[in-house]
Amino acid sequence: MPEFAELSECVYGCDPAGVDEVLHKERLSLEDLGVLLSPEAGERLPAMAERSAGITAARFGRTIQIYAPLYLSSFCGNRCLYCGFSAENKIERRVLSLEEAEQEALILAGRGIDHLLLVAGEAPARMGVEYLANLAERLRGSFASLSIEVQPLSEDEYRRLFLAGITSVAVYQETYDRKVYEKVHLSGPKSDMAYRLATPARVAGAGMREVGIGALLGLADWRLEGLALGMHLAWLRHRFWRTALTVSFPRMRPAAGGFAPMVNVGERELAQLIFALRIFDPDVGLVLSTREEARLRDGMIGLGPTRYSAGSCTAPGGYSEPGRDGEQFAIGDLRTIDEVCSAIRERDFDPVLKDWDPVFQQMQGGEKVAA
Ligand code: SF4
Repeated sequence: MPEFAELSECVYGCDPAGVDEVLHKERLSLEDLGVLLSPEAGERLPAMAERSAGITAARFGRTIQIYAPLYLSSFCGNRCLYCGFSAENKIERRVLSLEEAEQEALILAGRGIDHLLLVAGEAPARMGVEYLANLAERLRGSFASLSIEVQPLSEDEYRRLFLAGITSVAVYQETYDRKVYEKVHLSGPKSDMAYRLATPARVAGAGMREVGIGALLGLADWRLEGLALGMHLAWLRHRFWRTALTVSFPRMRPAAGGFAPMVNVGERELAQLIFALRIFDPDVGLVLSTREEARLRDGMIGLGPTRYSAGSCTAPGGYSEPGRDGEQFAIGDLRTIDEVCSAIRERDFDPVLKDWDPVFQQMQGGEKVAA
C-alpha cells in the first residue's frame, strides 16, 4: 500500500473532462477510480448514481440482503480515540456468557434474522477463539450464516472458526493514512497498522467465504480513503478470487469519549464514494449500516448498496434489555427489522433474509459443520 499522500495526484490531479469518459468504460483501472473520487466527479453525481444503479441491478437484481449485529462484549484493550469501547472510557462493560449470547441471538432469529454478525471489542483474554467457536457451534443450526467482527486473528484461528460455522469476517482498516492511524490508535495491539492491514488476506487464506473491509469516514480525506480501499479490494480480488468481498462505509457516530470527526463527510460525499466503488468493482457487496439515518438509507435503495443491517443495538445484552447502557456508538436508523423490510418492499425491492445455507460450506471444505 503506497503512502496516503502519494494517492493525492491520482484524485486531485485528474482531467475534469475524463469523468464522462470513465463513466462509459466497461472496466475501470485504479486511475479511473481516482477520477470518480475527484471533486470534478462530484459535479456529475446524478450520472454516477445512474451508472451505479444500472450495474447494481444487473449484478444483484432488485434485492437487499438483511443482517443484524449481536454485540458480545464491550471490553477492549485498545485505545482508539473515536470509539465508545476504548479502554479509557468509563462505561458499563460486560461480556455475555454463552447462554446469554444464545438468548440474544434467538431473539433476533425470532424477528426473522438469518444472517448474524457477532461483534466484540478486542479483549482476547475475556473473549477468545474458543468462546467464538463454542458460540458458533451453538448457533449454526439457527442461522443461515454467521459472521464476526472481532480482534484480528491468525490464519489457523480463522480456519478453526470456519470449521465451527463462521463463514465471514469483517475487519475494517479504519484509515489507510499512516499518520492519522498512529494519531488515533493510542495503544493496544490495534496500533500495529501493518498487522491489521494484512488481516483480510489471512481471513481469505484461511478459506473464509467472505471478507469485509472498510474505512471509518471522518478520520482522513475520504477521497484518498476511497482510492486506498479500491487498491486493497483489487489486490484481494486478484489474489483470492474465490473469496467474496464487501466494503462498508461507516461514518463516525456520537460515542462515549466525545471524539469529534477530524474531517466532515456529508451525504453527497458518502454517495460519491459508494457510487465510485460500485462502478469500479461491479461484484463487491456494499454495506450501509444502521449508523445512517432511515431517510438516507431509503434514498440509497437500488443505487449501489446491497446489504443493510436492521433493528441493531450496539450494547451487549441490549436485545434482551432494551435501553441498556454501554453502547459502542449511537445508531441512526432506529426502525425495527420489519419496518426496514417494509421500506425496502415499498420501493419494489426484496429484502433477502436468507441467501446462504450451511450445506454450501460443507462443499467448500467445512466438513464438520452440521447441515
Ligand atoms: S474500535 Fe474496536 S479496537 Fe478500537 S476501542 Fe473500539 S472496539 Fe476496541
